[in-house]
Amino acid sequence: MEDFPLLYKKDIIENLDSITTVKEKEAVANFTGGTTGASMKVLYTKDNVQERNALLDHFRAHYGYKLGKRCAWFSGKNIITEKDLKKGICYKDDYINRIRFFSTFHITDANFDVYWTAFCKFAPEFIVGFPSSVYELCAMAASRNLKLENKVEAFFPTAETLLPVHREIIQSVLRCKIADQYASSEGAPFILECTEGSLHIHPLTGIFEVVDENLQPAQEGEILVTSFTTEGTPLIRYRIGDRITLAPKEFKCNCGSAFPLVEKIEGRSTDYILSPTYGKVNLGNISNSTKGVKGVISFQVIQNELEKVEVLIIANDNFNKKQQEKFYHALSERFGVNMSISMNLVDNIPKEKSGKFRVVKNNIKP
Ligand SMILES: [Zn+2]
Repeated sequence: MEDFPLLYKKDIIENLDSITTVKEKEAVANFTGGTTGASMKVLYTKDNVQERNALLDHFRAHYGYKLGKRCAWFSGKNIITEKDLKKGICYKDDYINRIRFFSTFHITDANFDVYWTAFCKFAPEFIVGFPSSVYELCAMAASRNLKLENKVEAFFPTAETLLPVHREIIQSVLRCKIADQYASSEGAPFILECTEGSLHIHPLTGIFEVVDENLQPAQEGEILVTSFTTEGTPLIRYRIGDRITLAPKEFKCNCGSAFPLVEKIEGRSTDYILSPTYGKVNLGNISNSTKGVKGVISFQVIQNELEKVEVLIIANDNFNKKQQEKFYHALSERFGVNMSISMNLVDNIPKEKSGKFRVVKNNIKP
């Protein structure tokens, strides 16, 4: 693989016409969100789209899902209006496939009852979508001591990094299995969670190289992906901007699969706060800072200057003075003493245009 040069986002954005192997009208165009500034387009062959969907269907089938089972979907589509909300509507139904698409833009404390009622009434057997949205709904339910009556079989997170706190709260409120995955709309190969709870690289979908800051092979770091299902826009050693940690080679999974194991999907390599004391503090570390702190439903850390961060917090009544101090202390420990931290309680933290939620918004990264 080392004989091939790296492929960057910029290369694809600027040279798509010479990279792609298909005509746009014969292809399926896919746009990735503009979170890094530029929105990017890739062209898939129809065969590849079917192949990728078949893989996902096969993965979800391990957990009992098939199209037609009641499924709640939380993805970043603008599907409802303020007027709908006033009438108590926060979703759109696909009656044929029995999928209820919930808006991810309106999950707030004020709208909780509307969401919870629609969610319970629908009684989903499966859930697919943004973990932060499902988590928010569950966290609000938990702070009201509510649990879902019916049994959800499994939740399949998509598009965002599943954090340990997501897993914990969602499992406690919905009592369901959670089957994580890594994939991307550009067409990266797959990492899928097996029924034994391990993350396996799926080598039939492509190659993952994990590299350190000097692009040398590493156990933990950024990934270079080479995909077998993107013949329309070939991705070879594509620097996608996500990080993973591989599991030690000697690890074996009880499921019997020999596919390589991943210890953690760390998320976007740009999700970090720059600390004057410690350098990059990554998303996983930051999201852990609510451990043992009562009352925080969600929070976002915004950095506009090197020595200062603003923390927006949505919390319930349990977030008293003592818990606030605890949270402040946990953040301060991670960012170092030279970082000034201002904490602000808010009712709502806006989502990105893509509908995703960012725990970390770093506006000073190079
Ligand atoms: Zn396994």
